[in-house]
Amino acid sequence: MNIQMVDLFTQYEKIKAEIDSQIESVIRSSVFVKGGKVTEFEENLKKYLNVGNVISCGNGTDALQIAMMALDLKEGDEVITTPFTFVSTLEVLALMKLKPVLVDVDPNTFNIRPELVNSHIDHNTKAIVPVHLYGQCADMESLTEIAKENNLFIIEDACQALGTEYIFKNGMVAKAGTIGDIASNSFFPTKNLGAFGDGGALFTNSDELAQAMRSIANHGMSKRYYYQQIGMNSRLDAIQAAILDVKLKYLDQFIEARQAAAVFYDRELSNIPEISIPARVPYSTHSFHQYTIKVRGKRDELQKFLHSREIPSMIYYPLSLHLQEAYHYLGYKKGDFPVAEELSEQVLSLPMHTELTEEQLTFITSTIREFFS
Ligand SMILES: *Cc1c(COP(=O)(O)O)cnc(C)c1O
Repeated sequence: MNIQMVDLFTQYEKIKAEIDSQIESVIRSSVFVKGGKVTEFEENLKKYLNVGNVISCGNGTDALQIAMMALDLKEGDEVITTPFTFVSTLEVLALMKLKPVLVDVDPNTFNIRPELVNSHIDHNTKAIVPVHLYGQCADMESLTEIAKENNLFIIEDACQALGTEYIFKNGMVAKAGTIGDIASNSFFPTKNLGAFGDGGALFTNSDELAQAMRSIANHGMSKRYYYQQIGMNSRLDAIQAAILDVKLKYLDQFIEARQAAAVFYDRELSNIPEISIPARVPYSTHSFHQYTIKVRGKRDELQKFLHSREIPSMIYYPLSLHLQEAYHYLGYKKGDFPVAEELSEQVLSLPMHTELTEEQLTFITSTIREFFS
């Protein structure tokens, strides 16, 4: 049985005719960077998300940087974020000479804890960057309240949560990435909506921020060859936009397939005492960018056992960001974020994609059960 962590080829085969013809039409038009196809995709994503503006860019990391530039964050400004995520947030803050202030995460949701955000705000704090890790939203309602009280911006890192829905206490529903001032998204091939290469986008309901971000992503240009501000070169290719535009039509179906696999995993793994299945919260759906279990004790042994049966699995993330060599200069040490540190020793992400068959899921879960029997 050929089980992959992410099976992009089988997914492609199902929509090959549409994708191939879209790629060909971009080649025929010979408009490869920006242009009509990119605008069309931005419009369709805007409608899907029900957000004021979608601005495409080169990748999810650039998106974070463009957001911070548009908010005019300056050297020494503090930004509160999580140590238990992909490196992008910290990297961009470091490059921009902003000061990352890390706070620990919740052991069940893996997401930033609003109470800790609150207790780390001082007069230099300018923004909060919550990450909707693995596809489930952080507690945006509490974070929004804190941001309002303290006059802070919120940049949602929605890279793992495109299509996830946030459910407010009053019953209102909004897509992940449409709640904060700005959201960053990535179209890296393995993301919920993946290109055939790099890609990214920013979402905002502010037309003013949208205009600034559009300009920053295109060299800070106002009209052609007139530069209003310092920008960067971060654009989405038309071929990627064409592919994404086809896949966007299937995004909800893709998410349903992921959720169905998650339900299967839940059912087969929930009664193994050494394992915790992913917690669900009342304020968010879960798009299962990753299906991540916590294994108490023999996590690495389980991973080796799965590997011996040709079942892939991944550790997202094996070392909390505050302990990474590149970020020693921040002055954090072991013990500063006990939950993030413990999670890095317990988490294991199982194969998760849109093409998992019942046969594959049965093999994966029965192998895990065998290991613990
Ligand atoms: C993928 C990802 C990014 C970066 O996106 P790229 O397109 O690879 O630059 C940032 N943050 C999170 C949480 C991600 O998962």
